[in-house]
Amino acid sequence: VPDVIVHLTNDYRILWVNRAARQMFKLAEDSRSYQGRHCHEVFWSRPEQCADCPIVRCASTECNEIGFLSPAHNGQEFEIRAIPMRNQAGEIGSIIEIARDITAHRKLEEQFRQAQKMESIGTLAGGIAHDFNNILSAILGYGDLALEDMAEDHPARKSVQTMIEAGMRASHLTKDLLLFSRKQVSQKEAVDINQIIGRIEKFIRRIIGEDILCQTHLAKESLVIHADSHQMDQVLMNFATNARDAMPGGGVFSITTERIRIDQDFIDLHGFGIPGPYARITVADTGKGMNPQTVAKIFDPFFTTKEMGKGTGLGLAVVYGIIKQHQGHIEVTSTPGKCTVRSEEHTSELQSHSFI
Ligand code: ADP
Ligand code: MG
Repeated sequence: VPDVIVHLTNDYRILWVNRAARQMFKLAEDSRSYQGRHCHEVFWSRPEQCADCPIVRCASTECNEIGFLSPAHNGQEFEIRAIPMRNQAGEIGSIIEIARDITAHRKLEEQFRQAQKMESIGTLAGGIAHDFNNILSAILGYGDLALEDMAEDHPARKSVQTMIEAGMRASHLTKDLLLFSRKQVSQKEAVDINQIIGRIEKFIRRIIGEDILCQTHLAKESLVIHADSHQMDQVLMNFATNARDAMPGGGVFSITTERIRIDQDFIDLHGFGIPGPYARITVADTGKGMNPQTVAKIFDPFFTTKEMGKGTGLGLAVVYGIIKQHQGHIEVTSTPGKCTVRSEEHTSELQSHSFI
């Protein structure tokens, strides 16, 4: 039985444990090392009962109890069921505990919630973007017509030109929105991701400017994936833009590619993935990094920490949408404030986003 099963006295002392419990809590084969001792002490090295433990509740309510505990402080979560066992007189003689590690389950739930949130905002944004784009077409079209009718030295010419430029910027923004809301179909073909990076590198250098060093560490072998190369370009450009914004004083931006294989160990560790060969692209920069609250939100549409007019909060939402469309996965790690990079070394990777 893979679930942890423990038989306890009604004052929470261990009578018997199954093999899964011995493995999970690394107990000795010899039952004398834990028999008769309190469960919180043996399992969690705690002097007192865990707060809100269903076993404790079960002892007082005399009913089946269920609860979710994270007693280990390592992100692990357990679903614990406690079932009272009665003796012939009908009193509770002992308690059966059944515990299941639901950490991976919770991670999946979290991903599902995120996917749902993205989808609903995507639908909303896509709907607005579509209508908005139609209005913009009229503004831009009539702007052009007005310009055509104006003499070269007409005093309003400059104003109309500025209006058209602003309209174009709005149009780019709606393209981003449409991309994010998956209304644009991607055209996938077999492409070598190393070649894509090689081709776009010079544009990236232009985006990040001269103060930031762009390093690429590409896999020796070609990494052919089924992808829309324009969308891949977009992903890389969005990363580069963010890296530039994170390093106003200069630094290093790096792109690494490698071939990896997703196996069961990987899936257990990350809580996602379908086994098979994948291309992994890791981008890292030596910028100011992010705190955990920011990390938790960066893929949310419209989430930005930048001042008004600077950030739209769509860059990484678009990236997220594209990666999902490619049956990929994306992850981010970051440590804020550890900006102790020695520029001559250019080695430390303060933070990285990797997508597979
Ligand atoms: P925007 O760039 O318009 O703010 P994004 O979706 O591209 O929107 O990014 C969302 C937020 O994630 C940014 O406002 C910033 O706080 C954070 N972020 C993204 N990339 C980085 C990075 N490389 N370094 C630090 N923070 C970042
Ligand atoms: Mg951005």
